[in-house]
Amino acid sequence: MKRFALSALVAAVAVSGPLQAGVTDKDILNDQMTAEDVVSNGMGPRGQRYSPLENINTDTVQQMRPVWAFSFGGEKQRGQESQPLIKDGVMYVTASYSRVFAVDTRTGEELWEYNARLPDGIMPCCDVINRGVALYDNLVIFGTLDAKLVALDAKTGKVKWKKKVEDYKAGYSITAAPLVVKGKVITGVSGGEFGIVGKVEAYDAKTGKLAWTRPTVEGHMGYIWKDGKKVENGISGGEAGKTWPGDLWKSGGAATWLGGTYDPDVDLLFFGTGNPAPWNSHLRPGDNLFSSSRLAIDPDTGKIVWHFQTTPHDGWDYDGVNELVSFDYTANGKTIKAAATADRNGFMYVLNREDGDFIRGFPFVDKITWAKGLDPKTGRPIYDPANRPGNPAESSDGKKGESVVAIPSFLGGKNWMPIAYSQDTELFYVPSNEWAMDIWNEPTAYKKGAAYLGAGFTIKPNNDEYIGVLRAMDPKTGKEVWRHNNYAPLWGGVLATKGNLVFFGTPEGYLKGLNAKTGEVIYEFNTGSGIVGSPVTWMQDGEQYLSVVSGWGGAVPLWGGEVAKRVKHLNQGGTVWTFKLPKS
Ligand code: CA
Ligand code: CA
Repeated sequence: MKRFALSALVAAVAVSGPLQAGVTDKDILNDQMTAEDVVSNGMGPRGQRYSPLENINTDTVQQMRPVWAFSFGGEKQRGQESQPLIKDGVMYVTASYSRVFAVDTRTGEELWEYNARLPDGIMPCCDVINRGVALYDNLVIFGTLDAKLVALDAKTGKVKWKKKVEDYKAGYSITAAPLVVKGKVITGVSGGEFGIVGKVEAYDAKTGKLAWTRPTVEGHMGYIWKDGKKVENGISGGEAGKTWPGDLWKSGGAATWLGGTYDPDVDLLFFGTGNPAPWNSHLRPGDNLFSSSRLAIDPDTGKIVWHFQTTPHDGWDYDGVNELVSFDYTANGKTIKAAATADRNGFMYVLNREDGDFIRGFPFVDKITWAKGLDPKTGRPIYDPANRPGNPAESSDGKKGESVVAIPSFLGGKNWMPIAYSQDTELFYVPSNEWAMDIWNEPTAYKKGAAYLGAGFTIKPNNDEYIGVLRAMDPKTGKEVWRHNNYAPLWGGVLATKGNLVFFGTPEGYLKGLNAKTGEVIYEFNTGSGIVGSPVTWMQDGEQYLSVVSGWGGAVPLWGGEVAKRVKHLNQGGTVWTFKLPKS
């Protein structure tokens, strides 16, 4: 009897210790409502970034204080765009230059570090960032700047499998967090500024074996591997180059660089695609499918089930990669299965997530110049040809087309930084930026591994007082319910909680907590470097914890023109900050 009790005690200790239970498909599907862990990017595969926790709320949040801070160390202090994952008392978090850390969530002590040895020739367009890992079974899976997927043993950080997704010498890289659906790890690729061909791929999460590949430029063939045999899985969009002139589809861009979301209700993956290449749109008349679009993809086969193009024939680098987030709402007594996305181009779209039908679209920035509006039936932009950067072939020397002022700038009304949706307020919280650009076209030709833009640009702020605006948007009306202005451009993700709070970080270093209903600032803490990561929250030992990664960098200081000057004084860094309420 005594011996039995002892072994039961040992078992109990083992179970509550770190790194015991592997992550299952069910864990991932239920992630949003299981507050004791965070096992997916987006705090649930639908990417709502909503937590049902309310210990930290509008009454208590002012008491919230840091319990530990963990430094990524080294000289690689820049561009920390990661979202941590939490499982069994361990945090798995990525850092710049394709590094992964496992950290004890109670103490902040490092358990292991994996440092990808990157070749000299990597070509990240927009800083050496990484946005996070995926967890499956006892594996920690992430993508690298040299376009590989790496699966690490969650206990030791040792490599279990490694796969080359694409050739980094051609401009491919991976920065997004992968997504695991039904035992498959799904990834996109970055590289739209180098004339790569975007694609979405599924690999067996346990072995790394390729299951299917789906290119995202019309004309390229997709494949599925069935019983070890490669089977054609349909050309993307019918005929090769139907919406592209000549051979341009062969280096057509449409990079899937921000990863995707998954909706179990309709069993579809949602991936966005970046700009068509090159930026100079006069070289490629046509809609240039499937660039600047949202794609719904069958997770079992890689088939494109529907598509919605936000910027057909893009001429401003309005990547359509931004996350499509599922939500339901009631209209005329009927439940509408919707999904919303806030685009680089300044418009927010509400789509029917079953078939991609346009429900409504509305601006979420103060001023848009590149389009007069959206067709109310189809959501297609209504163009004003005078606001498209001119054709260099029509200029006197053939070298520089007419320059136009475009709002938003190519860094977007919203860039990569993820929105949050609160199930309580039924509002979307959208980190956005108010900026313009001078943009002009230049001649260009595709060369493997070289920048393929055919455009020049300078970004400038629209206002002296602020660039960043966190907005609460009502997806049913398109109305801005409240806004919070920020001097520097916002570049980090948002978290909404049942505690009626919205958390996000600023380049000035502040983690902020706002009243979700009113936008009132209730909490501020300066983390010592700019925040461009996404906060998470979870329950541990009966207490609510909140973490955010701090470390200024990303695309703004590299590409921001006049705006880069405005943020020049901000210090880089690389620290995970973790907070909770005092015990009593
Ligand atoms: Ca969870
Ligand atoms: Ca782009």
